[in-house]
Amino acid sequence: MFEDVNSKKVFSYFEEISFIPRGSGNEKGIADYLVKFAKDHNIFCSRDEANNVFMKKEASVGYENHAPIMLQGHIDMVCEANGDVEHDFLVDPIKLVRNGDILSADGTTLGADDGTAVAVMLAILDSSEVKHPPLECLFTAGEEIGMVGMKAFDASQVKSRKLINLDSLATGVATVACAGGVRTDFTAKYGDDDAPSEAIFYRLIVSGLSGGHSGEDINLGRTNAIVAAVTIMRYIIDACDAYIVRSSGGDKDNAIPRECSVEFAVTDSNRATSALEKAVSLIKSELTPEDKEFKAELVPISDRKKALSSKNSRILICALSLIHSGPIRMSDKIPGFVETSSNFSIWKTADGVSEFTTFSRSSVDAALDNVITKLNCVATSAGADVIHRNRYKGWAFAEKSEMRDVYLSSHRRVFNKEAGVEATHAGLECGVLLSKIPDMDIVSIGPDIKNLHSPSETVSISSFDKFYDLVVDMLKNS
Ligand SMILES: [Zn+2]
Repeated sequence: MFEDVNSKKVFSYFEEISFIPRGSGNEKGIADYLVKFAKDHNIFCSRDEANNVFMKKEASVGYENHAPIMLQGHIDMVCEANGDVEHDFLVDPIKLVRNGDILSADGTTLGADDGTAVAVMLAILDSSEVKHPPLECLFTAGEEIGMVGMKAFDASQVKSRKLINLDSLATGVATVACAGGVRTDFTAKYGDDDAPSEAIFYRLIVSGLSGGHSGEDINLGRTNAIVAAVTIMRYIIDACDAYIVRSSGGDKDNAIPRECSVEFAVTDSNRATSALEKAVSLIKSELTPEDKEFKAELVPISDRKKALSSKNSRILICALSLIHSGPIRMSDKIPGFVETSSNFSIWKTADGVSEFTTFSRSSVDAALDNVITKLNCVATSAGADVIHRNRYKGWAFAEKSEMRDVYLSSHRRVFNKEAGVEATHAGLECGVLLSKIPDMDIVSIGPDIKNLHSPSETVSISSFDKFYDLVVDMLKNS
């Protein structure tokens, strides 16, 4: 399949690991494979309980006195298949499909994120020609499920203070900063009651929104379905008494919700309908073109249900209205970069209990602290319990970075053109590692990967080929 590429070894390792199921949480097989690889190649290797694998290789001749350097990427992948594809991610290999320069999988995620990193590290460890300083390679598990591998990794064994992270998504631009983040869960227990006998029950359905990643897409102005539903409910509750029965919106912390439904009762249908119309026209006036399919319908439901009291419904909706969803502040150092944001990710209400989750991000620690205190105020106004969990550190832009300079000059040599640098508002393992090794100098790079985390994931074969050359050149010049 890859007769025409330069770095044959890289592609043959990529093919090999595509045979090993390696969804997040199922890294035992790939970790076994790596340990065996190290044994076969006489390379120092340690593996921990999280299935992180750490290898060390001596410097090439002439590089013994250079400062050690580490390469790092994650071994797990997101498992998504098209509805019409039968694929058991615990057993079946990923089937590679080549179309000219584009490599994809047959109806599933490809795992180029971050299998390309694994293949590049293996090819380098396997090579006697690549020139490098004392080399450390870290293969982390569970990146896609909250970076659990990197969090568990014992960084005291790392000698390097230079790191090339191999988990970025495009050649021509390196990532040099990322946001930290925190998830916040609220639980408000109000109890259920009977709505007044004359109340009429409805289901509000908000749909047609485009959603997206709560880090990378938060600056695109897309409408959050939960926020839209809460806005509509706020208008309705201002117009007449309303009684919330159920709600269901969003299912992932890190996605902008596309749909939300709310069941409720009202005592005045006319007022409720005209309030809905007012709210909808407000929402429509703020829609981006991607969200033009937005719809908000009120569907009458016949069976009577238990509901929150009108007072508690009002308390809940007012508190939810205070949750900011979208960018909070832009960076004044890096143009166009969101510094702090929050996403209203999930809202579920049933049986008198309302639970909701937000995901807040910032590359400035103190700014994230500030968001947390505001969310505590939301909890107070909702009468909810609140927990902040899985907080991870950001990676602030370094004024000076040798690794960034090495990248820029290697890129010039290998690609014959200038590269740029950027920051991401998403989280990277670099931030977690930095909290363990604060003086680590990091640059994050990758080949051209598109549509990651979906069955349409692709990688450009030529960029993958050159990506290897780039890493090799960076090692040679470090
Ligand atoms: Zn990744």
